[in-house]
Amino acid sequence: MEKKLFHYSGIIHAHSTYSDGQKSIPEIAAIADELKADFLLMSDHNTLQPKLDGLEGWYGNTLVGIGSELNDKDDKNHYLAFNIEKPVNHKVPASEYVCKVREQGGFGIIAHPDETRAHIQAYPPYPWTLWDSDCYDGIEIWNQMSEWMEGLTHFNKFWRAMHPRRSILSPKKKTLSRWDEGNLKRKITGVGGVDAHGHIHRMLGMFSVRIFRYKVSFRTIRTHILSEQELLKDDYRKALQIVYKAIKEAQCFVSHSYLGNASAFRFWAENESAVVQMGGTLQLDADTHLKVMNPEKAETRLIHNGKETIREEGSVLKFKITKPGIYRVEIRKSGKAWIFSNHIRIGVTSR
Ligand SMILES: [Zn+2]
Ligand SMILES: [Zn+2]
Repeated sequence: MEKKLFHYSGIIHAHSTYSDGQKSIPEIAAIADELKADFLLMSDHNTLQPKLDGLEGWYGNTLVGIGSELNDKDDKNHYLAFNIEKPVNHKVPASEYVCKVREQGGFGIIAHPDETRAHIQAYPPYPWTLWDSDCYDGIEIWNQMSEWMEGLTHFNKFWRAMHPRRSILSPKKKTLSRWDEGNLKRKITGVGGVDAHGHIHRMLGMFSVRIFRYKVSFRTIRTHILSEQELLKDDYRKALQIVYKAIKEAQCFVSHSYLGNASAFRFWAENESAVVQMGGTLQLDADTHLKVMNPEKAETRLIHNGKETIREEGSVLKFKITKPGIYRVEIRKSGKAWIFSNHIRIGVTSR
């Protein structure tokens, strides 16, 4: 790519003792730092108190930003609100709080949008119902905790408890389709969330296991941003604005780090007039290409307007583009979902 882009690997969606998590924010941040996360975005339920208490900032080499996970009175429509300065009243219909976040200058991400689990009484599903809202900015295309719980059965629960990272396999097709469809109308960022609580689960009521310790969750789904600006230690507020801008602009990709470090992944479009990365728009001319650099040889699927058009194995790939539309790639390693890019628009305008 022409411009130098700074890459940062981060963790989105974690809970602390300010709501139903098991550890304090400094303790959680120390774990993220140990696991080399460049940023960690916390989102305790219906509270912004940790931010108001001054807990944002650098913890070692990890930048911690604090938002809030809002939900409505039926415990649906969970919404991760970031870059907000004041608590958002969630005791109103969700359609209102979603827009209030934006009115404050913040942005928000729909959490675990298509949750359907029905078999664990203590953990009912918390799906999203407001698809006609125009105010949300992003969707969690992959939520680690949600996927793990949803796949749980009486027969596999011990295996899944023993292999928490291996049991995370893929984003939901339904969510990916919604994301593609939404992007045909306007830009909607796809991010990966962990929904870490440091949970203790009771198995058969006989003994309890701490299944997703923060240390385990933080080695699963990452959201990677690519920014023209560097995160500097002198001013954490400025650094956080860089992270938030990259996410809002969809200059990011999602990976499951159990399958390998995805930091070297790049996806961009170029022609004679310009080079654009994820989140960007490029005119379609006779010599327009999409390029992919995978961290290692892997299966790459090119998705055009929500439909797979090319599937190719390789580490450096180049696709000639002749049709306008929105493009993204999915990378699989040994048949398993590994990396999901955000969209690039070619020959179409975006809002
Ligand atoms: Zn939630
Ligand atoms: Zn959550």
